[in-house]
Amino acid sequence: MNCAERYLEIKKTIPEGVTLLAVSKTWPKEDIMMLYNVGCRDFGENKVQEMTDKYNDLPKDIRWHQIGHLQTNKIKYIASWVYMIHSVDSLKLAAEINKQAAKNSCVVNCLLQLKVAEEETKFGFDISELKQLLADNAFANFSSIRICGIMGMATNTDNVDEIRKEFAEVKSLFDYIRANYGQTVGEEFSQISMGMSGDYPIAIECGSTIVRVGSTIFGQRDYSKHQPQ
Ligand SMILES: *Cc1c(COP(=O)(O)O)cnc(C)c1O
Repeated sequence: MNCAERYLEIKKTIPEGVTLLAVSKTWPKEDIMMLYNVGCRDFGENKVQEMTDKYNDLPKDIRWHQIGHLQTNKIKYIASWVYMIHSVDSLKLAAEINKQAAKNSCVVNCLLQLKVAEEETKFGFDISELKQLLADNAFANFSSIRICGIMGMATNTDNVDEIRKEFAEVKSLFDYIRANYGQTVGEEFSQISMGMSGDYPIAIECGSTIVRVGSTIFGQRDYSKHQPQ
């Protein structure tokens, strides 16, 4: 099977209402076009330069999702065209995205990234920190970002119970925000981005609305061929 065939096989198993985001980082434009030609429009990248290069050369109806940690000084390169930033992991970053979006007279779709995994290295808000920010109405003045939901990454482990527990924490925070801050965040707060190649079926069971799948579609990434940013 090639990547387009694998994409279609996975797509068949994804319920209606859940977006299958094809994570194309490190893969060439030709592979993206193979998926595009069978109907895929949502692609995820984690490096600004690589995503910008692909955006410039590929069809303009592709929805580009920034899924990796974003440095504030790089936002300006993507603010006018990025479809959604999944990795808003600090108030400072949210403020800067808001500023760059305002400069471009656009509104940028954002997801707040939560830290639920055991690993120390994962970026994101702590659950208690995010609850406090919401209580303080900290995002209220950001009229050029649209907070569409939350994003989470589970620990990289074979322990299905642990993964399920972490996804359940994300879902539970999502429900908490809808219940307590529904008026503030509005109807647009509707997305839960969780689940990758190794755990997306569990994530869907736990309420995910966007699964970010890379290697199961494209194959194992070879970072040695990849130009670091
Ligand atoms: C690379 C990446 C993915 C996809 O990972 P796979 O295991 O290849 O599916 C998903 N989410 C984020 C944030 C990533 O960086």
